[in-house]
Amino acid sequence: MAKHIFVTGGVASSLGKGILAASLGKLLQARGFRVTNQKMDPYINVDPGTLNPYEHGECFVTVDGHEADLDLGHYERFLNVQTHKVNNITTGRIYLSVIEKERRGDFLGKTIQIIPHITDEIKRNILALGQSGEYDFVITEIGGTVGDIESLPYIEAVRQMKWEMGQDCLAIHLTYVPYLAAAQELKTKPTQHSVKALQQSGVQPDVLVLRTEHPIPDAMKAKVGLFCNVSPEAVVQCVDAPSIYEVPLNIKDERLDEIVLQKMGYDLKHVAAPDLKQWNDFLQLRKTATKEVRIALVGKYVQLHDAYMSIRESLSHASTYQHLKLQLTEILSDEVTPENVAERLRGYQGIVIAPGFGGRGISGKLAAIRYARENKVPCLGICLGMQCMAIEFARNVLGYADANSSEFDTQTKHNVVDMMEEQKTLINKGASMRLGAYSCSLKEGAKVRAIYGKEQISERHRHRYEFNNAYAKDYEKHGMMCVGLNEKANLVEIIELKDHPWFIGVQFHPEFSGTVLKPHPLFMDFIKAADAQVKNQA
Ligand code: GLN
Repeated sequence: MAKHIFVTGGVASSLGKGILAASLGKLLQARGFRVTNQKMDPYINVDPGTLNPYEHGECFVTVDGHEADLDLGHYERFLNVQTHKVNNITTGRIYLSVIEKERRGDFLGKTIQIIPHITDEIKRNILALGQSGEYDFVITEIGGTVGDIESLPYIEAVRQMKWEMGQDCLAIHLTYVPYLAAAQELKTKPTQHSVKALQQSGVQPDVLVLRTEHPIPDAMKAKVGLFCNVSPEAVVQCVDAPSIYEVPLNIKDERLDEIVLQKMGYDLKHVAAPDLKQWNDFLQLRKTATKEVRIALVGKYVQLHDAYMSIRESLSHASTYQHLKLQLTEILSDEVTPENVAERLRGYQGIVIAPGFGGRGISGKLAAIRYARENKVPCLGICLGMQCMAIEFARNVLGYADANSSEFDTQTKHNVVDMMEEQKTLINKGASMRLGAYSCSLKEGAKVRAIYGKEQISERHRHRYEFNNAYAKDYEKHGMMCVGLNEKANLVEIIELKDHPWFIGVQFHPEFSGTVLKPHPLFMDFIKAADAQVKNQA
C-alpha cells in the first residue's frame, strides 16, 4: 500500500502546484522511493481532449492513449516515469462512472449523493494507484483553488482519507504571499484566509508552501504557522526560480522532503540522502551554455505559452544536452504567406511545424515548409506538421496543385492525407482518433534509423488522418522516403527527404516521450542539425 500526499492550492491559480508536486516527487524518488504523481481536475469535461488549447494549454497523451492534462507531461519529464489514464481524473469522469453504475443498478436502489457516492469514486481512483503495489508514494494534485465549488468533493475526499489513513496521508497547501511594493511588505493574510477555507472543509494542512517573489523571514513563517495550526518548521517558502527545473533544489534547501518524511513517520537516519547528480549535471549544463541555437516553431496557438509545452521542453532539453541555449520563437502560422515567408523565417537554424486540428493557418505552414525544403533549413514536422509536409511536397514537387488532406477538403482528387481503411484496425470501436503508443519499424539506411539506433520504436499518437499509402511510390520516386511504418496496419508514420540536411515528418508526437534525464533522440538530432546549419552557412 502506498502512502498518499495531497497538494492543494489557495489564494490564486497558476502558482505551480504541478511543478511543486513533481519536484517533491523528484526528491522522494532521488532518495530511492518509487513515486507517481496524479492530477485531479475539477472541471466537468470527461477529459481535456476536447478542450481548445487556448482554454487549457496543451493536451498531453499517455502511452495508454489518454488525452490528459499537461501537468502529466511535467510529471513524466521530472520523474522519468510514464503516467497512464489513472493518473488524471476529472469530475466529468467521476460523474460519468457513478451515473453508469447507477444505470446498471449497482447501487441497489439507493439515493446517489455527492457524499458518499461521488467522494467514494474519487477515493477509489486515488487509492487504485496506490494499491497497484508499484509505488511507495502517490502524490495527488487537486486542481483549482481552495474555495472553488468544483473542488469541494475532492477536498472532502482528502478529509476522509486523512481521517482513515492517519500518518500515511499528508496534506500540503500551496499559497501565495504577495509583496506590496507601496508598503514594501510581504502579506500573509491571503494565506491565512486560504487555510481557513481549507479548515472549514475539515482539512488541516500538515505543510504550507508559500510561493513568493521575495524571501520570507523566519519570523513571518512562524507567524503563519501559528495562525494556521502548522508547526513553524513545516512552513516553507518557494521563491520564484529562473527555471522550473530548479524547483526541486529550492524545496530541498527548504528541507521539504525531510519534513514530509518525518511527518509521515520516517526516521531520516534510515532513509538514503537524495542522489541528484544527474539532475544537477543537467542544470549545470543549462547554466553554463552560452552559444545560442535559434529555432522557429510555426503553429496556430502561439499566443498561449502553454499550448506547445512539451515541444518547447523537448527542444530545450535537447539544446541543453548539446550545451546550447535555446532561442525559441513561436510564429503564428496565420500570418505567414509565400510573400513574407523568407523575411519571417530568415536567420532561424531550424523550423518546427506544429501539430494541430482544423484548417486555420495551414497555408502559412505550407509556405514555411516550402521555404525550409528549398533553402535546406532543418525542419521537423509533427503530426499535422508531417501531414502538411506531405501536402506541400505533393503540390510543389509531384505537381498535384489540389493535393490536400481530407480534413480540409473532402472533394480533392489528390487526397494525400486521408482517413485510411487500414487505420480502422488500430482504432477502438466507436473512437475516431488513433491515440496512445503504437509501434513503428524504421527502414534500413534511413536517417531516422540512425537517429534512433534501432529498428523498432514505439511512439504516441493523437490524430484522425493518415498519410495516403496510394501515393507512397510517387513520393519515393521524387526523394520523399517513407521510412517509418506501422507494419500491422501498413501505415506510413515517418517521411524524410533525401538530399536535404534534415527534413523529417513524423505522424506521432515525439514531444511526449522525452524527459529531463532521457531527451528524445529526434529532438537531439534536430538540434544538432540546426546547430550545424550555421556552420554550413559560415
Ligand atoms: N488534424 C490532424 C489529424 O487529425 C493532425 C492531428 C495532430 O496534429 N495532432 O490527423
